[in-house]
Amino acid sequence: MRRHKRPFECSIMGCTRDQGFSSQKDLERHQRSVHSKALPGAFKYRCAAQHCPKKEKIWPRADNFRQHCLRLHSSLDTAELMSNSLLSKPPTISGNAPAE
Ligand SMILES: [Zn+2]
Ligand SMILES: [Zn+2]
Repeated sequence: MRRHKRPFECSIMGCTRDQGFSSQKDLERHQRSVHSKALPGAFKYRCAAQHCPKKEKIWPRADNFRQHCLRLHSSLDTAELMSNSLLSKPPTISGNAPAE
């Protein structure tokens, strides 16, 4: 596990860049150029249902995850499950990489 000590890391999941940036400006420029399409959908899901067989799976797309909820968790409130499952990780402005 290597961690880079550059203070501004791109926190968008799926980003192939594993180095941070030395300034907020650089980070923002990177996110605008690389993630401009992904940013509005920078919300991903991990199923929060208790006995989900796919607990570990990250669902990058809301519609796919919704299908999953409907199929496997039809007894649960889909909207509620989805909001509980939201991994809300929009890019942080603080510069502190979230501990994972
Ligand atoms: Zn990135
Ligand atoms: Zn599930």
